Amino acid sequence: MNARHALTEHRHYAYRGCAPDPDQPTQSAADPNLPLDAWTTSTVDGGLPQRERVEQQKAARAICGRCPVLDACRAYGNIAIPGGGLVEPVGIWGGQTALNRHRALIALRTAQPATAEPAPSPGRIAEAGTVAKLRVLRALARETDTELVAYRAGMDVRTANWHRANLCTLLGLDKETTTREQLLGVAKANRLLPANVRIVPDGRWPIAAGPTTDGARQRRLAPDSPSPSRCPSCPTPAPRPPP
Ligand code: SF4
Repeated sequence: MNARHALTEHRHYAYRGCAPDPDQPTQSAADPNLPLDAWTTSTVDGGLPQRERVEQQKAARAICGRCPVLDACRAYGNIAIPGGGLVEPVGIWGGQTALNRHRALIALRTAQPATAEPAPSPGRIAEAGTVAKLRVLRALARETDTELVAYRAGMDVRTANWHRANLCTLLGLDKETTTREQLLGVAKANRLLPANVRIVPDGRWPIAAGPTTDGARQRRLAPDSPSPSRCPSCPTPAPRPPP
């Protein structure tokens, strides 16, 4: 499943924050006073006055912060295309403006390569190879969304997140800064995952290897992003078309 499908096939996609209001299809179901244009408004002259546009974007990003498909949307919105740009070069995706996403892309390209970590001890690798942890690693290779990782691993989100953070510790990685892809790479190098395992990419915005359930660690990895806290049990807006 590619990132676009991971977003549009997400079980909560119909309840995304930028779905159209069923009675006013040009408006957001999450806030009928907010037009859907708030997610797509370009920065060219001739549209809304800048102040109003900025206020609308702020409101849209706040809605993204409560969106049940935030992680999947952000992963898709930060995918780079072969020419060097973003697959979605304009608009707000996953709570990030086009400027945020372009800056993140540039930052990743210019980032210094990480220094090599010391190899974890055989005892720690054995601890990382329990049935539950291997289930989490296999699920993490296939999913980027925290809920889907937990679902595939057959446990609740809090337990899955704990295993993810504990895997970082056991494999000698910093759970505060290690990305999901880095954790999976180290797991693969230590044969906790098969050599031919397919790892779904993070997208161009790194996903925390060991997230916290309240989203605090994701915020540290992506400091200018809105809170990724999601609340599938919150009152849900009605379905609408993609942003
Ligand atoms: S842009 Fe993405 S994260 Fe924001 S409300 Fe729409 S689907 Fe949700």
